[in-house]
Amino acid sequence: MENGQISMIDILIETHMGLERQGPGNAEMTLKALSFMDNPGKISRVADLGCGTGGQTMVLAQNIPGKITGVDQSPAFIHVFNDNAKELNLGERVTGIVGSMENLSFGKEEIDLIWSEGAIDSIGFEKGLAHWNGFLKKNGYVAVACPSWLTDERPAEVERFWADAGSGLDTIGHNIGIMQKNGYSLVAAFILPEKCWTDDYFIPREAAENALSEKHPGNKTVEDYIESSKYEVELYSKYKQHYGYVFYIGKKK
Ligand code: SAH
Repeated sequence: MENGQISMIDILIETHMGLERQGPGNAEMTLKALSFMDNPGKISRVADLGCGTGGQTMVLAQNIPGKITGVDQSPAFIHVFNDNAKELNLGERVTGIVGSMENLSFGKEEIDLIWSEGAIDSIGFEKGLAHWNGFLKKNGYVAVACPSWLTDERPAEVERFWADAGSGLDTIGHNIGIMQKNGYSLVAAFILPEKCWTDDYFIPREAAENALSEKHPGNKTVEDYIESSKYEVELYSKYKQHYGYVFYIGKKK
């Protein structure tokens, strides 16, 4: 980052590090997903995969007992995560570790609840659910939020955007089928409201981008990044009837 050299990934980390969420979502929706579980008071071991700085992890920790491990590939996010846990006096029960959600180091059938918001699409819905199943206790829960198609046919522009972003979106029906094929029974699926994208994510993200742009005036990489981010916001407002974040809650068979 010295001498004006800043990469796209540096920008992504820097603009997201101080946000409560690194993707669409909010505390109310995290609690709604949690409300579908029987006996949340008995949950003793939780993994939050692709936890980012832990916005949803801290909400979980304040509402269920037990030990929570957050896993994320970004050391910068995990650093903020652990600071946040300490600040909220949750450091005894909540720990963030750097790791890959494709290669978890938990024990077989160790976990009561696997949580993951806005991250599974980077490894693939089916691949993630299949890998994670072995770490869950029988009757343990999985709660996963990810972008999904809300319609059967989409304009080419929006399909291209998500393909270029490396996320393979599917319809809700398709994803429920994948869950059922990979060792889970469906408990619930619901679409996150628009506010989760706009007020809770795009607006704070834009403020962080403006601050970055002031810090690096005229920097081409920063400008390109902000341009692509604006395009994402425009695309959402134009095509939001076609895609959204969906929370899928399943129970291990
Ligand atoms: N759950 C948070 C963060 C979502 S952003 C929230 O909803 O606010 C997606 C996160 O997944 C990022 O922090 C990214 O670093 C992480 N991630 C992406 N691929 C990963 C992988 N293969 N293993 C671990 N973390 C990954």
